[in-house]
Amino acid sequence: MRGLARLAAAAALSALAAACASTPRGATSPGDYASLSLCRGVVISNAPAMDRSRRIVNFDPEARVRGTRLLRAPVKSCVSSGFGPRRGGAGSFHHGLDLYTGRPALVAAGGDGVIESVGSLRGYGRTVLISHGGGVKTRYAHLSGYERGVKAGMRVRLGQPIGRTGDTGNATAVHLHYEVIVDGRRHNPLTIGN
Ligand SMILES: [Zn+2]
Repeated sequence: MRGLARLAAAAALSALAAACASTPRGATSPGDYASLSLCRGVVISNAPAMDRSRRIVNFDPEARVRGTRLLRAPVKSCVSSGFGPRRGGAGSFHHGLDLYTGRPALVAAGGDGVIESVGSLRGYGRTVLISHGGGVKTRYAHLSGYERGVKAGMRVRLGQPIGRTGDTGNATAVHLHYEVIVDGRRHNPLTIGN
């Protein structure tokens, strides 16, 4: 009930603050960077092919976007919500990939770059934005906290921890809301660069 109430409250907020992952049903087992599974009970539109344990078949953990190597899932997690239109939410579109961790987990920089901003944003909660150059950026939202020294202007490497997952902002479960942005447009981290 509490979750539903929070969802209802979330729905009242602006489109920018579109609610993120609800808690997946049943047990989930976060994997590692090399493989990625859909959390149990989660259905996403245009879902990739999965094996019997819900692992994405032929998952490529890295995308190359304008020459930049980017992790498609920069946290050990399972997918709790995909990129695209949401079912049941009138006109609602999810502009990121939700990676459920259950409890706070280390979030890595998706690629080499420079931290552009760190701070709380409405709906997104505690957020880090990294610029990778060439108009490519990645955003990490709903963080519970930042790694020591993380601030605007800091240079980071792919895989370097920048914070921990949380449920700050408009979130109903501890997860990372991950966005890959190219020239200001948000793309599906699972398919970009293919
Ligand atoms: Zn999200």
